[in-house]
Amino acid sequence: MIRHLPRTIVTALALTGALAACSADNRPVGRSAAPPASEYDLTAAREIISTSNEPAKQLFGHKSTASSQTPASWGFYSKGCLAGGAQLPETGPTWQAMRLSRNRNWGHPELIDYVKTLSAKAARQPGWAGLYVGDMSQPRGGPMLTGHASHQIGLDADIWMLPPSRLDLSRTERENLSSISTRRANGAYTNSNWTPQHHQVLKAAASDPRVARIFIFPGAKVKMCNDETGDKSWLRKVRPWYGHHYHFHVRLNCPPGLSGCTNQDPPPPGDGCEDAQQWVNNILNPPPPDPNAPAPQPRREIRLADLPQQCAAVLQSQ
Ligand SMILES: [Zn+2]
Repeated sequence: MIRHLPRTIVTALALTGALAACSADNRPVGRSAAPPASEYDLTAAREIISTSNEPAKQLFGHKSTASSQTPASWGFYSKGCLAGGAQLPETGPTWQAMRLSRNRNWGHPELIDYVKTLSAKAARQPGWAGLYVGDMSQPRGGPMLTGHASHQIGLDADIWMLPPSRLDLSRTERENLSSISTRRANGAYTNSNWTPQHHQVLKAAASDPRVARIFIFPGAKVKMCNDETGDKSWLRKVRPWYGHHYHFHVRLNCPPGLSGCTNQDPPPPGDGCEDAQQWVNNILNPPPPDPNAPAPQPRREIRLADLPQQCAAVLQSQ
């Protein structure tokens, strides 16, 4: 067909194709549309919020199914909820969800797709049958009864550092098997569990344009900064953080079209390798405590009134 068209049209078509491919790369189309207002009775939601005094984690922690709404992430990673959540199948060709009793293998469909895609890439690494997937979100997101300040809007996932040797673990094995730590010296360095395959899996994880940030202990970031011989730009999204040596944590950007979802500020420009080295230096030689530092405030329990109003409707939905 194209052969018979005038050259200008062919060029225009080629350009359109290139742009379409580009936007398909950056923001997958069709999986997220603006949630219809008809799914949200905000008058009823405000009524519920005004009378609810229970910690929100009790309300969300006891929901065992997703809401029957259009998929939508509401609020921020550490203060929000998830409508129309999708479940990562417990086992797939290149993954297994772990700790099934927690019922945290839920997320926005974009996260489910991301995890499946990454697991297929991981399966190309020697010794990796795919991925063992730790906590994602609860069926309706929200604060959890135990662990995690974030993981509330279906866009965070923990990926185990343990290379999966098999993907036929039973339910019981998935409760009892432990991941492995990859750090030594309190996170200043990697230990002998760290392999070039970890580097490649992290690189694949960070290179997906849907990713906002990946959290991992400082020594791993410095190790990857030192070992990477090619383009280092993917390291920008790999951020040093406390813990995160048994798993790394992937955080996706808000899917397009969801105006009720709040993105985190993008990481500072650059690969962030010097910043990670500074974290390591502070682990090895901790600076003296700042006498003027404000006393840490006890974290207040999140209540329904602290979350977007829509979250009350997410709880109410069938
Ligand atoms: Zn996490």
